[in-house]
Amino acid sequence: MSSSHRPPFVLPPLGGNPSSARLGTTPGSFANAPQIGGALAFSSPDTPGMPAPSEKTAWDFMPADWIRGEGGAWRAPAGFVPVTQLEHARLGVVTPEMRRVAEREPHLTPEQVRDEVAAGRMVIPANRQHLGFRLDPMAIGRASRTKVNANMGASPIASSLDAEVDKLRWAERWGADTVMDLSTGGDLDATRAAIIGASTVPIGTVPIYSMIIGRKIEELDERVVLESLEHQARQGVDYFTIHAGVLREHLPFVQKRLIGIVSRGGSLLAKWMLVHRRQNLMYEIWDDICQVMRRHDVTFSIGDGLRPGGLADASDEAQLRELATLGELTERAWRHGVQVMVEGPGHVPFDQIEYNMKLQRRLCHGAPFYVLGPLVTDVFPGYDHITSCIGATAAAYHGAAMLCYVTPKEHLGLPKRDDVKQGCVAYKIAAHAADVALGIPGVRDRDDELTKARAALNWEKHFELSFDPDLARAYHDEDLDVDTDFCAMCGHDWCSVRISKEIQEFGSGKSTEYAWDKPKVTAALTPEQRTILEQRGVLSPGEIHRLASKTKEKMGADTGQKAVCHSDLADDEKAIALQDERIRAEGAAAGR
Ligand code: SF4
Repeated sequence: MSSSHRPPFVLPPLGGNPSSARLGTTPGSFANAPQIGGALAFSSPDTPGMPAPSEKTAWDFMPADWIRGEGGAWRAPAGFVPVTQLEHARLGVVTPEMRRVAEREPHLTPEQVRDEVAAGRMVIPANRQHLGFRLDPMAIGRASRTKVNANMGASPIASSLDAEVDKLRWAERWGADTVMDLSTGGDLDATRAAIIGASTVPIGTVPIYSMIIGRKIEELDERVVLESLEHQARQGVDYFTIHAGVLREHLPFVQKRLIGIVSRGGSLLAKWMLVHRRQNLMYEIWDDICQVMRRHDVTFSIGDGLRPGGLADASDEAQLRELATLGELTERAWRHGVQVMVEGPGHVPFDQIEYNMKLQRRLCHGAPFYVLGPLVTDVFPGYDHITSCIGATAAAYHGAAMLCYVTPKEHLGLPKRDDVKQGCVAYKIAAHAADVALGIPGVRDRDDELTKARAALNWEKHFELSFDPDLARAYHDEDLDVDTDFCAMCGHDWCSVRISKEIQEFGSGKSTEYAWDKPKVTAALTPEQRTILEQRGVLSPGEIHRLASKTKEKMGADTGQKAVCHSDLADDEKAIALQDERIRAEGAAAGR
């Protein structure tokens, strides 16, 4: 090669897709090499100035009565019966739930899952009661794939028990890994029981909501807190958000903010502290709360009551002082054998996200970070599922283990069914994009398969591999309802993929596994696809009906013959004519 053709840079190691190899990281990934069993697991390289990982893990915060043997193994006191996943892991036991996690995350072995749980870097939120129902155990931690939580719950203004169970099923359908029931209205107890009974995913709650039904926040006391937690734990709730990190001494720092305290739990407890002139009740009785959690293996999701509610308040003294307290609470919970994850912001400018993730990793010793968004701009109400999933992608790449979805209704109203779908899809994109970037083995395989189907112009396989096949198919057919080797975006003559297929030198479309070897029958639209087009409102009902009822014969295709140009329904000319006809008709309808 002459020097003029040599690239003036070093090429990244692209090629192949060895991401399925258990110990591999996708070549070309700029993430760190995986370090499962260490503080980094799957991680981004640190930008200079970022806080280093903690040297400590949950092994440094053992119960006072456990003894370390000569070989380094820990021994529990005589008569001790392990209850939580953390306690089993500390004793070297691989539980059925750990095995199930490894089945669902094939890049991990059951022993690696156990070791991550023992180190406190992974949690398996699985209340013993819920395991008796339909719960399918899963894990949250940076050694596993990024998880997505969907919030739901009836408010005093809207929704019902049936609607909430319906939203739960809908969230599961669209990939939510956990669901939080944040009901503040209706029959909270019945709604919670129905959701736990119906769910296959872990259920989280913010118990303070039910504690103040029928009483003022000022009336909250130790007895009410502990009884409410015990009741919800017995019902089978898998994780509790408890805002114990908001301390009296943090409150003066909130006064400098643009929007004060935006967490419901945080604001309620701040009011309680001001009225009673006492420290946060949850902080004061933390050890008693830990004992309730341990009895049922409820996992902590230690709440960030002082999370920023706007970009201007991000990374301020109130937020970061509380984060340090969340680290202290994590250590205390581990001493009780309780699993812990920690909640994070909120609204954070894009450039501050890495710092926030890595500071949590240091202060909370690698306990899984569960973040809401964060939103990276404040001026797009109605689109906050997008503003926040941009931040969520960065958060997951830099260390967050679970992303709490934001729906288009955020800041505006109670999410309805379609808002739940939009939020879930946006966050599945964020989580998946981060996992690909982190090089988690196997994660990119489906992307590569879809690329092969796309290159082969195999539309059926293209739809099948899509996250939302009905949407992809409906959008395709809306513009060009024949299955030919181009689509309506560029048209026949400008289809670069089709042209590449014709040029022998390029690999495009040459994957034999997706090559078309016989005429394909294009199915009529399914009811779901029909609904998608009806809701878009672009096509007339007559056109949608025709799409929904089309058959090969109705389209005039010759049955039994191989189609010209890889099409079962139309050759090039006919497809072009149909497309022209459609464009003319749409132009006429639009008055062009
Ligand atoms: S017409 Fe354009 S968008 Fe459609 S398959 Fe070809 S290159 Fe892709």
